[in-house]
Amino acid sequence: METRRRGITRIPSDVIRLAIDEALKSNIVKSKGTCRMSAVIWDRHGIVSSGYNMWTSADMTSTYFGMPFRSRHAEVAAIYRTRDDWRWRLERSSMFVYRVGWRTAMPCDKCMSVINQVGICKLCWTVKNGGIEGIEGYK
Ligand SMILES: [Zn+2]
Repeated sequence: METRRRGITRIPSDVIRLAIDEALKSNIVKSKGTCRMSAVIWDRHGIVSSGYNMWTSADMTSTYFGMPFRSRHAEVAAIYRTRDDWRWRLERSSMFVYRVGWRTAMPCDKCMSVINQVGICKLCWTVKNGGIEGIEGYK
């Protein structure tokens, strides 16, 4: 596993556009909304799923792939939406994680664990100043 800077993988422009739209749906308004994030999953056939982070019921911790979450993280939301067919699609897919304003959106350890468990093989996220970082061959 190796983290590289810039140009790790070509991200289709429709993936980026969808990510920007999805992040604006987030109900996480703390820090002036700068914590709004989205995730888009795609493969060679096109976009598979997308999601954004959100608060769920207060004081409720839900466990997802063995990880306790107090809110729905964007990465988990995108994976969750594919629940009917994720097993056969996600193993060759890529995920792009975006944070409003193109801020640094590196997934947290819990999301990394879930992403790893479902077998997504390319993971990239925005970093400030228009950059992208990621991991390829993630297993
Ligand atoms: Zn997370």
